Amino acid sequence: MRIAGVVQDSIVDGVGLRFTVFTQGCPHHCEGCHNPETHDPTGGSEIAAEEIIRQMLSNPLTDGVTLSGGEPFYQAGDCAEIAQAAKNAGLNVWTYTGFTFEALIRSADPNILRLLSLTDVLVDGPFVLPQRSLNIKWRGSTNQRLLDVRRSLAEKKAIELN
Ligand code: SF4
Repeated sequence: MRIAGVVQDSIVDGVGLRFTVFTQGCPHHCEGCHNPETHDPTGGSEIAAEEIIRQMLSNPLTDGVTLSGGEPFYQAGDCAEIAQAAKNAGLNVWTYTGFTFEALIRSADPNILRLLSLTDVLVDGPFVLPQRSLNIKWRGSTNQRLLDVRRSLAEKKAIELN
């Protein structure tokens, strides 16, 4: 897979101490994006998902993994492998995406649905510059939602975390 990088001990990409993977390649090109260097799908560097998993599991203090971007759902198969390894190790999974939950559940790609089903918290939707806010936790703009994926999939509609 291609990544822009990893952060071993993030406290800004979700609750607790997190291992964050910044995937490389993003089709959304949101105006005002903070990570424009992640847009080019041929940029970043190549790494095996197994190596990311090894790094992720090397710190016993980690609470969870955050899959960010870039657009994780563009490399859904590899991201699902990482998410599965995280779940197996008792870690929670947060995934950031420029797609909406409603768009993702319409996908016919089994890897996309697998990554979605392995995600605990989905931060969905593109970054919308006019809706930028510093007052919302874990998100950049007010259109983005923090979704409880298990409940959202069970009820087939987006359910936000309280
Ligand atoms: S989805 Fe995220 S990484 Fe992609 S352009 Fe939008 S803000 Fe940037």
